[in-house]
Amino acid sequence: MMNTGLALREIDATLRLAGFTYCGPGFADYEGPLAVHGHPVDIRLSIPDVSFVRRPRVVLKDRSQIPLEILAHIESGDGICYASGAGLPIDMYKPGEAILRVIEEARRTLELSYRGRGRKEIIDEYQQYWSPTIAIQVLLPKQISGSADGFVYFASRDGKPEFFCLDHTPNLRGYVARHPTAARVRFVDQSIGPGGGIRAPATLRQLQQWIEGQPALGVSWDAVYSELCEGQYLFFAGPNAFVGMKLTVPKAIETAINRNAIRRDSLARLLAKKADKVSIERFAGSWSNLDHTSKRNIAEAASLKGITIALVGGGTIGGYLARLLVQSGAGGDEQLSIFDSQALSEGNIGRHLLGFEYIGKPKATSLKTELERYHPQVSIKAFDENALDCWLQIANCDLIIDATGEWNVQSALNERFLSDRSHRAQALLHTWIFMNGAGVQSFLNLRDGHACFRCLKTSFDGPWRYPAGDERQELNLQPASCGDGSYVPFSADASMMAASVANRAALDWAAGRPGARLRTVAVDLERGRYQKPVTPTALNKCPACAGDSSRT
Ligand SMILES: [Zn+2]
Repeated sequence: MMNTGLALREIDATLRLAGFTYCGPGFADYEGPLAVHGHPVDIRLSIPDVSFVRRPRVVLKDRSQIPLEILAHIESGDGICYASGAGLPIDMYKPGEAILRVIEEARRTLELSYRGRGRKEIIDEYQQYWSPTIAIQVLLPKQISGSADGFVYFASRDGKPEFFCLDHTPNLRGYVARHPTAARVRFVDQSIGPGGGIRAPATLRQLQQWIEGQPALGVSWDAVYSELCEGQYLFFAGPNAFVGMKLTVPKAIETAINRNAIRRDSLARLLAKKADKVSIERFAGSWSNLDHTSKRNIAEAASLKGITIALVGGGTIGGYLARLLVQSGAGGDEQLSIFDSQALSEGNIGRHLLGFEYIGKPKATSLKTELERYHPQVSIKAFDENALDCWLQIANCDLIIDATGEWNVQSALNERFLSDRSHRAQALLHTWIFMNGAGVQSFLNLRDGHACFRCLKTSFDGPWRYPAGDERQELNLQPASCGDGSYVPFSADASMMAASVANRAALDWAAGRPGARLRTVAVDLERGRYQKPVTPTALNKCPACAGDSSRT
């Protein structure tokens, strides 16, 4: 175990040996020199916490010892940024070594800045260097090149402005668009950075220098200028930054135009004469488009975007799964349909995505409401009906997911899927909780000669071929109590795992790598039984698929 007193003494001895002296006022504040680029640089080191959860702080004692240009990208409000990303792992059990490592990292950071790291860092962090006054939520889809037109507006709800938004049209579900103004976005495939020696143009003159000094933007100053004079917002979206700008027309000129004392078409000429005085407002765009929110986490090829999905069952598994599907790219343009004929009960909410406010309301429509609240670009179809009564809607989706976990529905969907080949559906994915939460399984049927769902358990009272638990064990067979319908006790984690296994199988299928068709996870490590991922063979005694012509 760590002893704070000993740790402090070791830090003190180590730092003194390295030429540092205690300076206070903190219990571990030291000063000392670093050799950077052949020169001594004095730093102050503060250790707020010997377990290093809060990182030691390194600041320059005399900023003039480092050229200003270099200082700009190594210094933040909290001193020298000597550790990036995941942070610098340092060992609290070796406090002496730990503190030497911090000093060395700080020295290296300063040293690297002399070797041209500066330019690269400006590019990486250009959006910050642009010093925008306002961040704008971008709901447009990302493009690699070309341009897109849209509007910048204030999205307001219940009469309160909530955020600035950039979208194709000023219509965002759940919000009122205030003061929509035309905007043009140019997508640039190269990094955006300083141009003509200007980092963040403040005036019309500087903006011209910035544009003309940056051929990567692929646009002429004349084009930009005339769009600005029309009062538009202009944006450049590159791989490293999304920057925006707008002309601020001086009050006197605006008033003169409004009183018709000056003609609007002479504005460009007038402003050009005052190019040093006319100011530019700068903005930053932040991607918050629905596709972007899912694609940044999963590989593009594995996204569920563009696949129509019928989710049968909006219960405990279906609810969590619906949310996962949306976060995996489903849910735009009404491509996800949810089928459930039941209403949410008080007893459900202990293991359901939906909470108290939805009690008594239909699960399918409530899930639609909840997921559309997750992101304003989600749009889902809800069917508060028995799924089998909506077979046409289901069969016309690419992927059918059965999250009911009910034997009768599983068997019926399996039968329909096998017998009706005239519709769009290509895949049927089942997911269920085995016995009373002993394990979870997912099974994918592609009608390609491998097992169908009923090949896994050919007779109702017979055994499973790949059970996720011991079917004879008393605890796995706890009878349903009469009080709360067909309530089977298992915890929310089992439902979440069943949802996760199914989401993974759906993503693998969407990426063209369906892999093992039957996947098993043991949830209760005592009662559950692990089964290796497997693609079971079809059985001749299967009541559903025996004699099927597609079987090989
Ligand atoms: Zn079968």
